[in-house]
Amino acid sequence: MKAFVLKEPGVVGWHDAPEPELTPYGAILRPVAVTPCSSDVHTVFGGGSRKAPNLILGHECIGEILEVGSEVRDFQPGEIVAVPAITPDWRARAIQEGNDRHASAPFSGHQLGRTQPGVFAEKFLIPDADTTLAKIPEGITREQALMCVDVVTTGFTGAEYANIKVGDTVVVMGIGPIGLMAVEGARHLGAARIIAVGSRPSCVRLAKEYGASQVISYKNGDVVSQVLEMTGGVGADSVIICGGGDEVFTQAVDMVRYGTGTVSNVNYYGGTGVLGFPKFSGGRGMAGKTIHTELAKGGRARIERLLSMVKYGRIDPGKLVTHHLKGLDKIEDALYMMRDKTDDVIKVMVELDWKDNK
Ligand SMILES: [Zn+2]
Repeated sequence: MKAFVLKEPGVVGWHDAPEPELTPYGAILRPVAVTPCSSDVHTVFGGGSRKAPNLILGHECIGEILEVGSEVRDFQPGEIVAVPAITPDWRARAIQEGNDRHASAPFSGHQLGRTQPGVFAEKFLIPDADTTLAKIPEGITREQALMCVDVVTTGFTGAEYANIKVGDTVVVMGIGPIGLMAVEGARHLGAARIIAVGSRPSCVRLAKEYGASQVISYKNGDVVSQVLEMTGGVGADSVIICGGGDEVFTQAVDMVRYGTGTVSNVNYYGGTGVLGFPKFSGGRGMAGKTIHTELAKGGRARIERLLSMVKYGRIDPGKLVTHHLKGLDKIEDALYMMRDKTDDVIKVMVELDWKDNK
């Protein structure tokens, strides 16, 4: 079958891959709509851990179920479902200790397009359908469902670990798709004032639509000074880091308040080395500032909860899809669009629902 793969670091292309084999708890699906993610861009162009040869890329997908294994109870062929980007092994022992995302190894929850063939192919396998696949309620658009599988859950994860209380001032650093959903998440969790940091016009406009009170930019000077000035020198109650280079980690500690402040990070820092913890604003190690680092929550129940937020009109992540392309072949173009941020793209949806693919 036709698959879009990582040939070697920095080189992608098409490959004739073996078809997936059905497992008892598994399901075989065909993608209906996919979108490349900035983490696909990191996987291809950013180095990171060594990957299997001709690894099939992609982890953001809604798909049609083609076949289910003998032990699958809740899903049938023909259903269109949301496929979570993070697919923990819910049968792993560490799950019982509350560790679903790094259960047997670091990043074990992030399997698709990383340690297991991804979704950028004519078919793919989900090894445990009942615990992974999410039912899409009626009335939800494909764009909305597709955004829930990674973007919404990641942004909301950042907000959920930021210890937000009603009336808080929250800074969201980086307003790509994840940051925009962190803004939305912070608003729902009770933030009064949301200061978003970013400058791309399409993102600034959506940040305001999703609930940012103010948008500030690196282009207008040091963002730490701007936040401290806006908060009377106190700093923010919470800072959610959703994008940027290594420097944003230090800036976040600088701009979060002493005693009760929380920095919640869902940003990816490529390469090796150390992130800088500022001694002064860190109170020489005694500032009472909490730092939480996290991978997105995944699995069926999580994504079905987010889809419920869409169904009842609480969130509309469909607006993040600024570009549409048609056909499996267009995945390559879409990946480069995400890398180069051409045409002020936020997310590009590739639709694969052609008739002769049944
Ligand atoms: Zn992703």
